[in-house]
Amino acid sequence: MAESTHTFEDNLVAADEALARFAGEPLTHLIAGARAAGASGTTFTNTSPIDGADLGQVAAGDAADIDAAATAAAEAFLSWSTTPGARRKALLHVVADLIVERTHEIAVTECVDTGQTMRFMSAAALRGAENFRFFADQAPGANDGKSLPAEDFVNYTTRRPIGPVGVITPWNTPFMLSTWKIAPALAAGCTVVHKPAEWSPYSAHLLAEIALEAGLPSGVLNTVHGRGETAGKALTEHPLIKAIAFVGESSTGSAIQAQGAPTLKRVHFELGGKNPVIVFDDADLERAADAAVFMIYSLNGERCTSSSRLLVQHTIYDEFVASVAEKMKNIPVGHPLDPMAVIGPLIHPNHLAKVRSYGEIAVEEGATVIEGSAWADAPVGGCWVAPQLFTNARNDMRIAQEEIFGPVLTAIPFSDEAEAIAIANDVDYGLAGYLWTGDVGRAHRVAKALEAGMIWVNSQNVRHLPTPFGGMKASGIGRDGGDWSFDFYMETKNIAVAHGTHAIPKLGG
Ligand code: NAD
Repeated sequence: MAESTHTFEDNLVAADEALARFAGEPLTHLIAGARAAGASGTTFTNTSPIDGADLGQVAAGDAADIDAAATAAAEAFLSWSTTPGARRKALLHVVADLIVERTHEIAVTECVDTGQTMRFMSAAALRGAENFRFFADQAPGANDGKSLPAEDFVNYTTRRPIGPVGVITPWNTPFMLSTWKIAPALAAGCTVVHKPAEWSPYSAHLLAEIALEAGLPSGVLNTVHGRGETAGKALTEHPLIKAIAFVGESSTGSAIQAQGAPTLKRVHFELGGKNPVIVFDDADLERAADAAVFMIYSLNGERCTSSSRLLVQHTIYDEFVASVAEKMKNIPVGHPLDPMAVIGPLIHPNHLAKVRSYGEIAVEEGATVIEGSAWADAPVGGCWVAPQLFTNARNDMRIAQEEIFGPVLTAIPFSDEAEAIAIANDVDYGLAGYLWTGDVGRAHRVAKALEAGMIWVNSQNVRHLPTPFGGMKASGIGRDGGDWSFDFYMETKNIAVAHGTHAIPKLGG
């Protein structure tokens, strides 16, 4: 992870400057290359997770704004979809360059808007640039297909962008996640209407601004702020929008599928997770403990691929859990702009209440709650938590089945490989799985048996952009990464050309 070289003081100054931009006039949508206050003129308040302060007003988009954005995206699609791949590549690299130039501004904005700490947000902003570069480089070959020769025919496939698409993103790492969707869509030749999460609207505005500054034609990337039930819903129902790339909760994915059904929307869903990290007694236990701690307590635990269930072989359970507890207790909670802080405030009072409620549920269910240290100087009014570890848990408890989405880990013992697999799979979700063992045969057996879209063996989540990302079961539909992204944002066409040698049935003489 790239360490930021900025001091706490630097970050506070930069955040003041960044926030000043959002504190005056309400934050507008960006539609067809221009700021738009919104048809209704209504706004909502964006509040700080740090102290609950009012950060500014944001335009509350509705169906009329979505219609304007979808219309702009449809008009822009006519030329963007036929813009040579090499040109799209060049423009998207300029977007990446500008993201790199503005990394610090993006990172501090993200910290104060979401409560995620600088330690992770500076790397996340740079990942946004990498996402653009990776897909920019694929743009020239996006239309390429396959040659599939048969006896009497040459078949070949080609791809074309599906049309204007909707991108709906959550609040946990909003900038990075938006680029993960928007970059491949633009590289494929699609135009985009982006509806960012209402609890973290700011970095989406920076991205749209950067795209315009980079020279993307107006209407290619449009941003409409607003609530999921209004702006988000209208986007999923709009007939000009051909596909929806959605990242968020499983229940929202289900609602979007229903909303998009009348217009036959293609959907790609990256949803929730309750991911196991399985530790066998033959593993490198120090590395396993560090990885387990990293995967649940980084990013405030507000991470879809967090390893929120710790399954430990009974022979090492007490020793391993004690080591994880020790590490957890040393994790610093602090101001998100403090480079030393690991855990910052959670995104919103509603989410804080949800995460806290699981501490009570754990006690009611008979688990043991181990508390980490809180930040003694935490500002009043913020959504501050201390990390927690639940031990003596069973997999049928709510703390082991439900996505908490906070810095909270549930530890469960298992006896052998078969039981580890059974516990790991006994959950609605299937996004990621982590397993630690020194036995290579076991690593392959368990990896094969786990019901999850992504498995890491003897590792935390380390992303490699060409590999597929996505989940099974309630964790999602579809994959992105590499060419999988283009498969979603493009239509494949098969063209069959006869050699003139095949028989044609003669009907009617
Ligand atoms: P959410 O589902 O509440 O909201 C996500 C987005 O959907 C927001 O922009 C929201 O406004 C919008 N939305 C809400 N209702 C809608 C509707 N009816 N129609 C259209 N849009 C609607 O999710 P969240 O609380 O913002 O994010 C946390 C969730 O995201 C967690 O479950 C987490 O696991 C998941 N997530 C998954 C991945 C992944 O890759 N699988 C990555 C990050 C986050």
